[in-house]
Amino acid sequence: MIVVKVGGSAGIDYDAVCADMAARWTAGERLILVHGGSGETNRVAEALGHPPRFVTSPSGYTSRFTDRQTLEIFEMVYCGKMNKGIVERLQRLGVNAVGLSGLDGRIFEGRHKDSVRAVENGKVKVLRGDHTGTVERVNTGLLELLLSAGYLPVLTPPASSYEGVAINVDGDRAAAALAVALKAEALLLLSNVPGLLRAYPDEGSLIREIPAGDVEQYLEFAQDRMKKKVLGAAEAVQGGVRRVIFGDARAGQPVSAALAGAGTVVS
Ligand code: ADP
Repeated sequence: MIVVKVGGSAGIDYDAVCADMAARWTAGERLILVHGGSGETNRVAEALGHPPRFVTSPSGYTSRFTDRQTLEIFEMVYCGKMNKGIVERLQRLGVNAVGLSGLDGRIFEGRHKDSVRAVENGKVKVLRGDHTGTVERVNTGLLELLLSAGYLPVLTPPASSYEGVAINVDGDRAAAALAVALKAEALLLLSNVPGLLRAYPDEGSLIREIPAGDVEQYLEFAQDRMKKKVLGAAEAVQGGVRRVIFGDARAGQPVSAALAGAGTVVS
C-alpha cells in the first residue's frame, strides 16, 4: 500500500499526479490519495468576504483559524471543488475513484480543539470557536471495503470529532496517521517544492536523505507549513512506515519520481 498526499499550493499539477496514479493503479498497485486545498480555499474565502486568518502557536506552528463560517468555506473547496476535480480526472483515466472526507464514515477521527493559543503582536492569546483537531483514529475497515471492491479512495479533511463535529485537520498528519494505520510501505508528501530545502527557497539546497531516527532534527530547516510535513514524516516513521518521501508535484510523473528516490527520502 502506498499513501500519496498531494498538497493544495499554487503550481501543483493535478493532471500529472492523477495520470501517474492511474497508470500505477491500472498496473495493480494499491494506492490511496489524500489531498489538500489551501490555496484555493484562501481565494474563495477572500471572494466570499471572509478572508483567511492564520495563527501561529507559541511553538511556531502556523494553522488556519477555523470558525464555523471558515469550516463551511473549507468544506466547499476541499470536499467540493478539489475532491470532485480529482475524482473526475481519475474517472476520465478509467479509475473508479471514490471521493470522501474524513467525516464520511468517520474515516478520520480526532478530538475537537475549541480553542487555540496564538501569538499576536508578541502576546499569547487564547482564541475560542476553533474547529480543529488532530487525527487519532482511522476507519481502515471502510477503506479496505472500498479497496477490495476495486475503488480508489480519494480522501480529504475535515475529520470527525468523537462527537461527530467536523474538524479541520492537517492533511499531511492525517495522511501519516492513515499510512501507519494501513501499514503502508511508503508515504509520499507531494507539494510545490523539490523536497525539504536546507535553505528555502533555494531549490539547489535540497536535502536528499534523512535517517528515520533524526527527522525531528530537521524541523529547524522547515518554515511555517513545511513544519507539519516534517512532523507528519516523524509520526509516520515512528509508526512503522518504512519510507516517507517529500516530493515535487509540479510536473512529470510525481509519484513514480518520488518512489524512485527524487526529493527528500526519510528512511
Ligand atoms: P501543500 O499545501 O502543498 O501541502 P504547504 O504550503 O503546506 O504545502 O507546504 C509547502 C510549502 O512550505 C512550500 O511551498 C514552501 O513555501 C514552504 N517551505 C517552508 N520551508 C521550507 C523548506 N525548508 N523546504 C521546502 N519548502 C518549505
